[in-house]
Amino acid sequence: MRQPLVVGNWKMNGSLAKTGDLLHTLSVGINDKIACEVGVCVPFVYLNVAKFAVSDDSLLTIGAQTVSEYDAGAYTGEVSARMLADFGCSWVLVGHSERRTIFNEKNKELVKKTLAAQKNGLTPIYCVGETEADYKSGETFSVIAEQINALLNCDEVDLTQLVLAYEPVWAIGTGLTASPEEAQKVHVFIRDLVKVKNVEAAVKVRILYGGSVKPDNALALFGQEDIDGGLIGGASLDAKAFISICQKA
Ligand code: PEP
Repeated sequence: MRQPLVVGNWKMNGSLAKTGDLLHTLSVGINDKIACEVGVCVPFVYLNVAKFAVSDDSLLTIGAQTVSEYDAGAYTGEVSARMLADFGCSWVLVGHSERRTIFNEKNKELVKKTLAAQKNGLTPIYCVGETEADYKSGETFSVIAEQINALLNCDEVDLTQLVLAYEPVWAIGTGLTASPEEAQKVHVFIRDLVKVKNVEAAVKVRILYGGSVKPDNALALFGQEDIDGGLIGGASLDAKAFISICQKA
């Protein structure tokens, strides 16, 4: 039985004051009445605030939105997985579609980022998803297979220590969502790909759905057998909405 997981992705939003308020409200609201695991991926510069706002015994855990593939050294502007671990991060997003499209991150470096995260005790949340053009031309499954297989083809990746997220790019921040049935089909497809490589990992791996999840559609999506929670963008900036989504997982 996989424990559901809901992770908020705050993207490049917030201010020192707003971040402190949001973390405080969430650390009170995410309590033992919520059955799922909950994380929030905050901007790098607010990790320090998050580390101190969220107590060690809090059920709210923190993460980052990307990570360097390198350990240390002359990589101006980069943040290493070891640094994230220092700040108490549990999670790091790898290959969010905005990283793939705006920053041109490719599967090869995303696999290296996954390895860097695992080496430092972080759980990578490896994101995959098709664009609107892929979706319309019926390429969803081949695009997902390519993104997932990049990970599966690397023997060093520990498939039992990661989370996968299916986020159709056309659904991110658009108010559109894949229907629960449509998303479930892709999740089964992803789980089957993992199964070919590692049966134990396929049973264990949590596959999150992301793309305009809101309090009013969360229940139907999370009700699908292979949807193990959500990756939440816009709605994670609103404490009430985010807690309500967590209550449905
Ligand atoms: C995301 O950015 O991962 C995301 C799912 O965003 P939204 O919930 O706003 O669609």
